[in-house]
Amino acid sequence: MTAAIGIKGHCAHCDITFELKPWQVNAIAIEEPFDCPYCQRVLQLSCPRQLRQFKALDHWALVRPSMAVLTCVVLIVALVAEWVGLISVIGQFNVSLVVLLVHFLALRYARFRQRITLDLQVVTPALPVEQLARIACARLSQQ
Ligand SMILES: [Zn+2]
Repeated sequence: MTAAIGIKGHCAHCDITFELKPWQVNAIAIEEPFDCPYCQRVLQLSCPRQLRQFKALDHWALVRPSMAVLTCVVLIVALVAEWVGLISVIGQFNVSLVVLLVHFLALRYARFRQRITLDLQVVTPALPVEQLARIACARLSQQ
């Protein structure tokens, strides 16, 4: 996942907000619980709204490369248009200025959308297999 920068997690148990490490972001992506680095409780992102927001981060990560391509194309087209006499020097200058402005605004907005804090809920881990086996044995011996 490329959008791992700037994502924070908030532990519902110890009330600490911390920067998520790439492996923690991956754990959230595959909906796998992981330990809180402060209180060692098992955490998981269970809010469906935030989960949707988290999944959308991949799309926001695409804004930067696609905007770079778009801006380059517009700048070249404007230059060529000026060169062949379709637009004036001032016109070319205006087009370049506007496309650069749009470029930076889009990157700013994408960065703003990528900076989220996820509310991580404490989950009770599933019983380990050994414990389940012991319960099954106890039930069998009772019969
Ligand atoms: Zn915690």
